[in-house]
Amino acid sequence: MSTSLWHEVADRVFQRRYQPWDVTVSAILGSDGLAVVDTRCNLAEAGELREHLRRLSPAPVRWVVNTHVHFDHVGGNAEFVAPRQIPPAELWGHRAMAAALSAEQDDPEGEGDPAVPVSTVVPDRLVDRAHVLDLGDRLVRLVHPGRGHTDGDLLIHIPDADALLAGDLVEESGPPALGSDSFPLDWPDTLDALLAAIGPATVVVPGHGAPVGAAFVREQRDALAALAARITALHAAGVSAEDALDTSGWPYPASKLAQAVTRGYAALDTGSAQLDR
Ligand SMILES: [Zn+2]
Repeated sequence: MSTSLWHEVADRVFQRRYQPWDVTVSAILGSDGLAVVDTRCNLAEAGELREHLRRLSPAPVRWVVNTHVHFDHVGGNAEFVAPRQIPPAELWGHRAMAAALSAEQDDPEGEGDPAVPVSTVVPDRLVDRAHVLDLGDRLVRLVHPGRGHTDGDLLIHIPDADALLAGDLVEESGPPALGSDSFPLDWPDTLDALLAAIGPATVVVPGHGAPVGAAFVREQRDALAALAARITALHAAGVSAEDALDTSGWPYPASKLAQAVTRGYAALDTGSAQLDR
């Protein structure tokens, strides 16, 4: 499939894949307007996105949803609120995601993602567990299924189209990204919650890559469960985090798992993997 055009992956649900990072932007068309999911890396890229949205539909952008805090998903938020857009779109995100993005804005030299532009806008419409957006003739559910890629990931479920936008909880064009804000021990359970919400024919749109189905998500869940089990076993055996990466049998290249092991060990050291559930 071409990566440079809108693809209608389900009824009035459109995906477009953008470089850099092969990041997904989605648009959901309802009778009252467009809901846009994720905004690319920065304002310049969001300006191009705006033009592509105009060519897709004359409907106004009334809702913007961020799947999670990473810069390639939130950097263009300012394009959709005043003064660049009047009336502004409602800007939605998970409560933890908004807190993390606020902290980065307040301390751009701090530990957060250095690539998030300071000019981006933090969502002020916040989701804890779930919220329903009414697009006029259809409903869109925003659901937080638990911790995984971050502590503030949102799924966007469009039941009438049997489609689910998964953000980076599911990745198709590369292995799932386990960074310094990930929860490797929780992620498999979170994908179980995702799988419980979809059917055999549901179209699942990843944050990076082509649409997949339940079987692909189940495979990714199993690989992440194997990863979590391995981190837990090595920790229990007293193997240091440094030595753990030298062992064989990881489900993903060990070169990409340093943060996963660090984060998993830290959770096991504090017991937070259990306590925070
Ligand atoms: Zn991400």
